[in-house]
Amino acid sequence: MNLKAELKSYGAKLLEATAPLWLPKNVAVILMYHNVGDTLNDRNTITRRGFADQLQCLLRLGFRCLPATSLVEQVRTNSLAFGRVFAITFDDGRSGVISDALPVLREFKLESTLFVVNQFTDGRTRWFSYNKVPPSWISESESLATKGFSLEYADREMLLNWLENNQAIGGHSVNHLHLATLPDDILEAEVYGCAKYLEQQYGCKQCGFAFPYGEYNGRVVDHVKKYFTYAVSVEQSTVTAVRNHHGAVFVFPRIDPGRSVYEMLYRIRRLVSWNRAKSTV
Ligand SMILES: [Zn+2]
Repeated sequence: MNLKAELKSYGAKLLEATAPLWLPKNVAVILMYHNVGDTLNDRNTITRRGFADQLQCLLRLGFRCLPATSLVEQVRTNSLAFGRVFAITFDDGRSGVISDALPVLREFKLESTLFVVNQFTDGRTRWFSYNKVPPSWISESESLATKGFSLEYADREMLLNWLENNQAIGGHSVNHLHLATLPDDILEAEVYGCAKYLEQQYGCKQCGFAFPYGEYNGRVVDHVKKYFTYAVSVEQSTVTAVRNHHGAVFVFPRIDPGRSVYEMLYRIRRLVSWNRAKSTV
């Protein structure tokens, strides 16, 4: 183990051992992943081992895992039982979620939600660049010239396998565009088209929606509300922060757990203390 990994492992143990001091007994979080796999060619991929370690750690800390739909519903109806709760979500529909995350989810008997993009469910490879402004998908030749990332997506067969294994699917739009910048008619097509596709192709009704790039405004929310039951953003926060507004909440924050137990616990601790600070002013 190199020094950095050793320090992280020590830090993870320290954070877990001191959890009674900083982790509330009553807390809810929605984890936001993108991909699981051992080829770490982009920053949104966590190894299968890292993913399993994070889940195991949460379970050791007394967290219960709920499907995102149930967690959201219980927050809205103010019926979330006292305790530590988490939900697992994945954005985009990458193939590693089915090949590498699903075996771990099955092992732990946990349910999760995968937010898919209609146009990315054909199993094709795509290329992405963080160097573009704004970051976006690019062509293969552009990727070679600019050191873009190649990303693998799940196909229909993989998604059906996902559903057969008690996992859920949600919407992430038709083309993964920057929704807040679109005129009304195209925005409507991106959102309605996504809901219709999920119902027709996968029998999914009453789904959740993840905003592409986490971008939204009041107009985007109005469109999404017509066809989806809740939405998740990329705003980093525990759900506990929105619990007091139950009933009216449509958009739920999430936590990016990073790639290790240390990163996950460090981020949860930071957000928990922010929430505490906010609630005392
Ligand atoms: Zn996305």
